Amino acid sequence: MSDCGREAGRAMRGERDEHDSGRYTVSNFLSGREIYESILITLTRLSVIIFLLITCGAISASAGAGEKPRHVVVMVWDGMRPDFVSEKHTPALYQLARQGVEFEDHHPSYLSLTEGNGTVMSTGVYPERAGVLADTEYRPAIDGLTPVHTELLEVVRKGDAVTRGHYVGAPTMVELLRKAGRRTVVAGSKGVILLADRTEGEGCGPGIELFAGQTLPTNLINTITNLNGAFPEVDAEQISRDDWTTSALINPLWSNGVPDFTFLWLNEPDHAQHETGPGSAQSLAAIRKADDNLARVLQVLDERGLRDTTDVMVVSDHGFSTISAMVDLAESLERAGLNARRGFSKPPAPGEVMVVGNGASVLIYVIGHDAQVVKKVVDYLQGWKCSGVIFTKNAMPGTFTLAQVHEDSPGAPDVLVSLRWTAEKNDAGTPGMVYSDLSQYGAGQGIHASLSRFDMHNMLIAAGPDFRSGIIDHLPTGNMDIAPTVLWLLGVKPPKDLDGRVLTEALTVPGPKIKSYEPGHIESSAARPGGAWHQYLNFTEVNGVDYYDEGNGYQLRSALAAREGAEASKR
Ligand SMILES: [Zn+2]
Repeated sequence: MSDCGREAGRAMRGERDEHDSGRYTVSNFLSGREIYESILITLTRLSVIIFLLITCGAISASAGAGEKPRHVVVMVWDGMRPDFVSEKHTPALYQLARQGVEFEDHHPSYLSLTEGNGTVMSTGVYPERAGVLADTEYRPAIDGLTPVHTELLEVVRKGDAVTRGHYVGAPTMVELLRKAGRRTVVAGSKGVILLADRTEGEGCGPGIELFAGQTLPTNLINTITNLNGAFPEVDAEQISRDDWTTSALINPLWSNGVPDFTFLWLNEPDHAQHETGPGSAQSLAAIRKADDNLARVLQVLDERGLRDTTDVMVVSDHGFSTISAMVDLAESLERAGLNARRGFSKPPAPGEVMVVGNGASVLIYVIGHDAQVVKKVVDYLQGWKCSGVIFTKNAMPGTFTLAQVHEDSPGAPDVLVSLRWTAEKNDAGTPGMVYSDLSQYGAGQGIHASLSRFDMHNMLIAAGPDFRSGIIDHLPTGNMDIAPTVLWLLGVKPPKDLDGRVLTEALTVPGPKIKSYEPGHIESSAARPGGAWHQYLNFTEVNGVDYYDEGNGYQLRSALAAREGAEASKR
């Protein structure tokens, strides 16, 4: 842990660590020469602090919640659906909601996946700026033959090497907080948390980062394993990865005090819901364990007398669905005459197609961006029974552009398709069924990533001194609003405007005013032999932020049916 941020932060808030008290004072019992040296040391320290304040940007920080001491804890329950928050299954979270604010209409960014939402949550900007759309992408500059997992350390490092440090396209809130002199601790039982803070000893020094049993700085892991044992296997039940990571957060990562900002990311209930479907007995048990870990964190805050000065936000990265049937889009495109692959054995030629499945959404990259091949892919998708909503880089009949949904990042695919979903129920009675592209999971198991309303609604509950008490926020909110709100609460102004908004309506402290609220609906159709393809997308705009509610599509047998379908989707 660098002293840079810590010292600058203290200086800015006028605080002084009790263990350090007297370091900057001159004792009455010092000799003249000692007094001179003390003054010199004091001046040197002050100039270092002032230098750090300037270079680390703390002087430019503006106060949102004021200069009072404040801690913020953001805890992510991966894949938690809002409809599973209850007194029975999540007693600690339920109680927290009663004390604070329950956000009734919270949204992930699309794609409703972990890594994209981890990046959006961390940066407060749309995926087109944040730069990571999906868990798995084809990034030829990183690997020309095989899709990469966007959260892996080696991918992140290579991504930064080929983009001069812009693998994540905007500064993260953790980076901004550290530059402004705030202490941060980031811990997650899965790799996504690396995207929140991938710094390795630069600028104001690294924060503390624990991701999937690895650490930055790297030697920190020894301290953790000496105390808590080795990082458990993924299926360990006695002490799960989430239990271990929460333990590591409490001790040793919080042993020197709860920092200004803590970001904790749990693996559950995502893992159990993938294996057994949302609402299964195993998934409900995993939700209960996530709640137990929340209770442990809250208990430490209580024991240290910090609940009155700590804002706690519990959020999930995306919703969840059940797989209605497994399909193989690469094989289907190949059968349709396209040269489609899930990996290349040698550098691909123009016109070859890379299909990258991400569960209920699929990214399709056409080598050389050949317009005729793109058209063939779109034609196929518009006749395919599994297509939900089709996006393309360039405008085409019966698609939306990637730019329309803020997805047109530098590495974006040529075609993106969200698979078709229904509100039907699974065996456990949980609504939300969706097709899934080839993956390790099959029919009846869980998946997400689509524009289904069940994937596109997730959970946010927040309580603490800066949040209103016992209210339900009915306004649409999203994961993109987490970073702007955290920065506001900690009084740090980002260098550039963020795309998300401060959740003013939920706060007891003043924030930017809510100026606009506008439900939106777009649709697109394309004629097909004997009928048409039709798709729609519903969203709401608040203060210039677009929140996507749901989108789907279907084939219609005649032009008359197309018109009727268009009317029906408006209702
Ligand atoms: Zn996730």
